[in-house]
Amino acid sequence: MIKPILAAATLVLTMNIQASEKQFPEDSLIYRPKVDSGFDQYRSKSLRKSNKVVLTFDDGPHRTRTPRLLDMLKRENVKATFFILTKNVNASNMFIIERILKEGHILASHDHDHDNNNKEDETTYREELYNTVTMIESLKRKYNSNQVSSYYRFPYGAYGRNEFYHHFNVMKDVSDRIYGENCINFAFWDIDSSDWVAQLSPEQISQNIIAHVKGGTAYKHKIKRTIFGNTKYEVDKYKIKYPIGGGVALLHDIHERSLKAAEIFIKKAKQLKIEIVPLDEVEEFSYKNKSCQSIY
Ligand SMILES: [Zn+2]
Repeated sequence: MIKPILAAATLVLTMNIQASEKQFPEDSLIYRPKVDSGFDQYRSKSLRKSNKVVLTFDDGPHRTRTPRLLDMLKRENVKATFFILTKNVNASNMFIIERILKEGHILASHDHDHDNNNKEDETTYREELYNTVTMIESLKRKYNSNQVSSYYRFPYGAYGRNEFYHHFNVMKDVSDRIYGENCINFAFWDIDSSDWVAQLSPEQISQNIIAHVKGGTAYKHKIKRTIFGNTKYEVDKYKIKYPIGGGVALLHDIHERSLKAAEIFIKKAKQLKIEIVPLDEVEEFSYKNKSCQSIY
């Protein structure tokens, strides 16, 4: 009689551990400043060896480019996540926010002003995080969005290096204030498309995502100093022999080349049977068992 009870108890325990491991940041941890850092533990491991890619676009909304990107995504029937800077949102581009939400994309925060969070004191970071997340929540409410997820992407991927506090502990506090539970999920990326490098062509940026999934030629920038001491950027070609498989891809909807790259990638993905999935369908970023209703 004891055995089944034990088995059931073990199962419940295992499920709890799995559930907490999925959450970024983890419920049960108190993070240590300057010690708990790095990206690798926060990659989308569930997408490795898969053919699935998540498209994410940072630094918008851009007045003309984001709407054109939305048009293309609609034509191709693809959903993406927009990590916006909430300081950029105003009456003149509110229609873009409305489109993002109503056309089934995910609206997420990339901080209020794109400052390096490691350089901000705790009070500033706490206030800005609260403001940016509540602003996203009020936008969701304004357009009757049923989006449950709440994602935050650190500008420059910078976190955990301030010596006086750790961003994840503050994030959990802020989340508790807004949602009454641990709901703000930070998201890094697995595939850097390098679309921020002005010298890369749209084809090369698209190829960077494909090479990370399937292997092959990829492109990055190389810094070259001229004889006069100036810095010059050159495109450097390299081969990916052991691709990671699927992952979250980083792009920016503020660059013309990124819009073209996204279109080229989406068309090639269809031929190559690469599936483009929304962020909240990825195990690490799932909100399946959470309510996450803002209570502020
Ligand atoms: Zn950014």
